[in-house]
Amino acid sequence: MRVGVDFGGTNIKAALVEGAGVRAHASVPTRGEAGPAAVLDNLAAAVRQLGARAEVVGVAIPGEVDDRGVCYRLPNVPGFDGYPLRAELERRLGCPVHLENDATAAAVAEQRFGWGTKYRSFLLVTLGTGIGGGLVLDGAVRRGRGGFAGEIGHVLVDSTPGAWPCGCGLKGCMEAYAGARGLLRHDSEHGGSATEVRQIVDAGGQRAQRLFDFLARALGAGLARLNNALDLDALVFTGGVAGSFAAIEPPLRAHFAAHSYAPPMGAIPMQVSKLGEHAGVIGAAWLG
Ligand SMILES: [Zn+2]
Repeated sequence: MRVGVDFGGTNIKAALVEGAGVRAHASVPTRGEAGPAAVLDNLAAAVRQLGARAEVVGVAIPGEVDDRGVCYRLPNVPGFDGYPLRAELERRLGCPVHLENDATAAAVAEQRFGWGTKYRSFLLVTLGTGIGGGLVLDGAVRRGRGGFAGEIGHVLVDSTPGAWPCGCGLKGCMEAYAGARGLLRHDSEHGGSATEVRQIVDAGGQRAQRLFDFLARALGAGLARLNNALDLDALVFTGGVAGSFAAIEPPLRAHFAAHSYAPPMGAIPMQVSKLGEHAGVIGAAWLG
């Protein structure tokens, strides 16, 4: 059976995957503070809880790995920089393990079972604490040299001297404005979490619409610049605030068109992913 694992900063979720369906799933706390060996023991325990023998395991990670399966960066879980993640997991699980950035893994699921059945070239945009993405060009998921392809959050949208700092160390990144911290800095002069963004969105009203307008301004500028270079068939949105896309789309389209260099590029389809909460584990299971 194919097993997909979503290796998150808070929880590790494992699932037995058949096609686009989840047969069984298990979740354990990540407990990142315990160190890499204990975290991977937790991950292996989650896979064993599924109760079936795994023939291949795919793991979606909130960071990047190189072609040898060595972690380059895992910002939310300490101790993994330079860690031989694939070798350590194969030793624990006794089967081949594939690793991929989580947004790129979600793009694998989208390409195979979602909007990828209609569009050959699209960008999957994940809206959450950060702004991530997975890139599919001419029917193929692109990972790039170091697994960074589709890491769209750090495209420049503000080059003025007062541009806001980003968690990556640069200034004026799309994520610095359209990520949860940026949205709440705009709303309340202090940064905050994705949960606080959710509360404002759920409460609705003018405060929510102001947040959507601000999000749309940064997203429109950043995504149009990417599309100017990539000439995509569509943009596909997923993650926390994608559920409010009806309210975001009108201002997003206006800003996107204003930054598109040719009118047809400003009018590409914008869709919301229908794969739901299991997209990460489904994509991970189909990495191999
Ligand atoms: Zn950045």
